[in-house]
Amino acid sequence: MQHELRTVPIDWPASIDRGEPPSLAVWKFASCDGCQLSLLDCEDDLMAVAGRVAISYFPEATTAVVQGPYDVSLVEGSITTDHDAERIREIRSQSRLLVTIGACATAGGIQALRNGRDVDGFRSIVYAHPAYVETLATSTPIAAHVPVDLELRGCPIDRGQLLQTLAALLNRHALRLPTTSVCTECKARGTTCVMVAHGTACLGPITQAGCNALCPSFHRGCYGCFGPMESPNVAALRHQLAALGLDSDGIDRLLHTFNTTAFALVDTPVEVSR
Ligand code: SF4
Ligand code: SF4
Repeated sequence: MQHELRTVPIDWPASIDRGEPPSLAVWKFASCDGCQLSLLDCEDDLMAVAGRVAISYFPEATTAVVQGPYDVSLVEGSITTDHDAERIREIRSQSRLLVTIGACATAGGIQALRNGRDVDGFRSIVYAHPAYVETLATSTPIAAHVPVDLELRGCPIDRGQLLQTLAALLNRHALRLPTTSVCTECKARGTTCVMVAHGTACLGPITQAGCNALCPSFHRGCYGCFGPMESPNVAALRHQLAALGLDSDGIDRLLHTFNTTAFALVDTPVEVSR
């Protein structure tokens, strides 16, 4: 089965035309570091990439720092403080190409569960000295603050997709990312549908492909960490999940985990009957 792919138009750094290695910076905001670790996990492939880029700022990997501007910035994490908001604007001004990596950076992440809730109440329960904790009331994606050239989804990102992006950058060819659902990846790899065969709740039908249907291949439902596909039919999936026995609260919890805000934007809650 063929995936539908969208071609991502990218203005590749001029340094490549000049035969120079593009400078790469990797930045962290509110996050768990998991997406940066996906980059380090590339191991041999990373060594091949490292030989063709100038790693100028990547504190997780090296203490060496080269001042900007940078050809490419990879940004992990969400904006949760005023200082974050100021820093991402500075990074944007220093970056020719800005690529956000992971659910935190592209959708606000799990930490966006606080959005619309009593953040001061959370702060006083969690911290012994809440007055020292400076935080915004929301966790928001990078694209809510500055223009973003490309988003790589997932919690964490798929390292194959990251390498594909870096290879497209280095070889100046078009980058093509899937637009279909995780279901198409299950079919392509021959994984039996966990929802049909085992009655397991799964967000695969509305989640953007890109992970090669990782969770269903281990007999688990998809939790939607790649966020919504193009034009997802959330209402139809709500009915299917209700038929499996989930009530409205259970369906809401499933939809609002890794991509708390992203599914909310495309969801129209409907009455479900069990
Ligand atoms: S997207 Fe997931 S793996 Fe990546 S930094 Fe955020 S919480 Fe960690
Ligand atoms: S199957 Fe779903 S939850 Fe699992 S890695 Fe893929 S998108 Fe993420």
